[in-house]
Amino acid sequence: MDKWWKNGVAFSCTQCAKCCSARDDASYVYVNQGERQLMAKELQLPLATFTKRYARRAADGKYYLNFVDGHCIFLEDKKCIMHDIKPTQCRTWPFWEEAMASKAEYKKQVLDFCPGSNVDSPVVKADDIKKQINETEDAFFEV
Ligand code: SF4
Ligand code: SF4
Repeated sequence: MDKWWKNGVAFSCTQCAKCCSARDDASYVYVNQGERQLMAKELQLPLATFTKRYARRAADGKYYLNFVDGHCIFLEDKKCIMHDIKPTQCRTWPFWEEAMASKAEYKKQVLDFCPGSNVDSPVVKADDIKKQINETEDAFFEV
């Protein structure tokens, strides 16, 4: 079945950092082992020390970045200090399965929230969207 986004979607991140803050009490930025390893290396820390200091493990066994004062611990002066190696889900948002499931879901989760989804933004092609959805799913299933 054709996806509603088959002709692409207008999107270009303005780096406003809204999505680095808790939304409706949700503050889950998943970080699998490969992602934690990259960030640990960036901070010149052993993986175990990084994980203990910057992440928490939820009941589902997955690790999430800590949030401080309502935003991700790596957001400083409205900028991500891990920008070049940020976790997959930060890099691929809003092209997640759940947000792209329907036009209505996209409106609720993205259009009504993210300034980068302005209709005047450049169009991201369907192939790129699909690739990012798959990357997000792959990253999510790794612990
Ligand atoms: S809310 Fe949208 S525009 Fe703002 S940082 Fe996140 S993705 Fe970019
Ligand atoms: S890792 Fe960076 S991009 Fe991701 S939520 Fe934290 S500050 Fe934002």
